[in-house]
Amino acid sequence: MEEALSVVFGLIVGSFLNVVIHRLPLKQDIVFLPSHCPRCQAAIPFYLNVPVLSYVVLRGRCRSCRAPISPRYPLVEALTAFCFWLVLDRYGLSPHAGAVAVFLCLLIVLAFIDLRHWILPDELTLGGSALFLAYSFFHPEIAWANAVLTGLGAALFFAGLFYFYLKVRKIEGLGFGDVKMVLLMGLFLGLHRLAVAVMLASLSGVLVGLFFILFRKKDLKLALPFGPFLALGGFAALFWGDALLAWVGTLWGLP
Ligand SMILES: [Zn+2]
Repeated sequence: MEEALSVVFGLIVGSFLNVVIHRLPLKQDIVFLPSHCPRCQAAIPFYLNVPVLSYVVLRGRCRSCRAPISPRYPLVEALTAFCFWLVLDRYGLSPHAGAVAVFLCLLIVLAFIDLRHWILPDELTLGGSALFLAYSFFHPEIAWANAVLTGLGAALFFAGLFYFYLKVRKIEGLGFGDVKMVLLMGLFLGLHRLAVAVMLASLSGVLVGLFFILFRKKDLKLALPFGPFLALGGFAALFWGDALLAWVGTLWGLP
């Protein structure tokens, strides 16, 4: 029963995340503007605003103008529902589960905004950092000094990389938004899990980059936003980072 509720709650929250993903980069009102089709402006009635289901019923098109609706909408909803189910499974119904859910929502929104607009808005990265810095004072398992050192240390390291690319290689290899996103992740994940997150992000980024280079030969100077990979790494490290570190430890014969 709780599992089913977590999925339903996740679908509803995912539907709200879609609104944030669409409107935050356009500086539109997130709370008070009613849902509408981005092309014909037709209002979307509440009974057609059911997560995932509406998309299937309408076969991915607007009811009024038949404009295709981005598959991003059902994808974000399903992804959020999956995350909420995982959070309940791992943390049960607890205040910390709420914090983990908020963290995952931030990662989802950041990933999809970066995919589309190549930006990671300060409202999310710096706002989220402030939120999780405050949270570290209240959560006994997160030592706030460690959280701050990890977040700031990692952000400084990434800022160094950013300036290295910019000054030495004259390219913007990383955005400064990535630096702020790493700060947010470090504040919540702590040093070990953040290290796993950044490694997984870099690895998956390289793999996807290689895939594009191999299968789209014309476009060799390809650039990818790094935010979605950071989000993926952060998600994986949060749930499986400790297990992965323990496994790597056994490979190296560490006690
Ligand atoms: Zn329309």
